[in-house]
Amino acid sequence: MTDQENSFDVVVVGGGPAGLAAAIALSQTGVRTALVARHVPYADNRTTALLGGSVDFLDEIGVWSACRDRAAGLKAMRLVDDTGRLIRAPEVRFVADEIGLDVFGYNIANEVLVDALEERARAIEGLVRIAEDAESVRSDAQSVTITTTSGRTLSAQLAVGADGRHSLCRGAAGIGVSRRALQQTALTFNITHARPHHNVSTEFHTPHGPCVFVPLPGDRSSVVWVAAPKEAERLHGLDDDALSAAAERQSHAIFGRVHVEPGRHMFPLGIERPQRYAQNRIALIGEAAHVVPPIGAQGLNLGLRDGIDIAEVVRQARAAGEDLGAPQVIARYCAARRADILSRTFVIDVANRSLLSDLLPVQSMRAVGMHLIGGIGPLRRLAMREGLAPSWRTTRRAG
Ligand SMILES: Cc1cc2nc3c(=O)[nH]c(=O)nc-3n(C[C@H](O)[C@H](O)[C@H](O)COP(=O)(O)OP(=O)(O)OC[C@H]3O[C@@H](n4cnc5c(N)ncnc54)[C@H](O)[C@@H]3O)c2cc1C
Repeated sequence: MTDQENSFDVVVVGGGPAGLAAAIALSQTGVRTALVARHVPYADNRTTALLGGSVDFLDEIGVWSACRDRAAGLKAMRLVDDTGRLIRAPEVRFVADEIGLDVFGYNIANEVLVDALEERARAIEGLVRIAEDAESVRSDAQSVTITTTSGRTLSAQLAVGADGRHSLCRGAAGIGVSRRALQQTALTFNITHARPHHNVSTEFHTPHGPCVFVPLPGDRSSVVWVAAPKEAERLHGLDDDALSAAAERQSHAIFGRVHVEPGRHMFPLGIERPQRYAQNRIALIGEAAHVVPPIGAQGLNLGLRDGIDIAEVVRQARAAGEDLGAPQVIARYCAARRADILSRTFVIDVANRSLLSDLLPVQSMRAVGMHLIGGIGPLRRLAMREGLAPSWRTTRRAG
């Protein structure tokens, strides 16, 4: 291997959905990009409700055409208070039509999305795939050096850490992280059902967290059932018939008979906040940069916006003839991401806490809030628009 073959403008570490999308977007800006990621089949049955600009972004990077027919449009969202408490919030229904949209977004199996991203990444000649893990990442004033498990040494002006919750890149950048474990676990599985979902996503708010039924193509839905850890374990251990019956009860039979499909996974929930989003020639994206509970379908939507922003910051730096890992470029990426990530994390945390709280004043405030959102048109439309993507965000486009 020559020095030239191991020298890049940007090296992306991690081939989950956030890393793949960012690597494609970066290479589309014309910078020499490498992706350090083993080829591993996607291992769980999570789905993603792609909201706001996520679908446009996937379209721009040439991925959406392979996803469109395998995703279900989300025309409406119902929030149902299923706490059984004395003070209950009224049902709130958000309809995309009310803000001039056909759909809020599309729900897609992560496995399908990752396959489409992999296929597109393979088709881009300028994107070099190094199918290994990164073993070490080191940066100095001139460059960042990534050593892979086989001992290959890559150098770049900038490394993008898309290496998930236990990010090696984050540690290498010297960025600390605060972690708060929540006493909640999400159980995920898919169901087929007798009655159609009509492209409506339904969220039942229980005292332990939401149980969400999100449409998939056909008479199928994905289920994210957030429960106390012991209850999630109990549900996970049920046989198919018993879990089908439990899901039917929890859905208040709105889909008629329910059958669980093979495959279920559990995710202990938590909130993770790094001190900053980039430092020392290393920028963080996806779950390396933020972990939030699956409330309001925000996690990967945020991760894709990280990808949009790092590609745009790099494109502008290249156009200005700057070093792509220079402190001012790193600072621009942090500034671009801060408000979006902090505001989303805060809102999700407050929504989750207000649902779990045993305090009557908190329950009352939540009920009043839902009542106002449900009953006042302009407030409801504002909530819908902000739920999709931050309105203050200027549209950034790389490429
Ligand atoms: C139950 C549940 C439901 C969710 N639903 C939604 C939703 O509806 N909408 C939404 O927007 N978000 C949702 N999310 C969040 C979303 O799933 C995550 O944000 C997303 O999957 C994270 O993707 P990622 O690429 O950042 O991380 P990961 O998928 O964890 O990818 C990280 C990758 O880096 C690799 N890696 C790690 N270390 C190294 C190394 N040293 N070298 C090379 N590679 C390395 C790993 O192998 C992995 O492939 C949900 C989350 C949960 C738990």
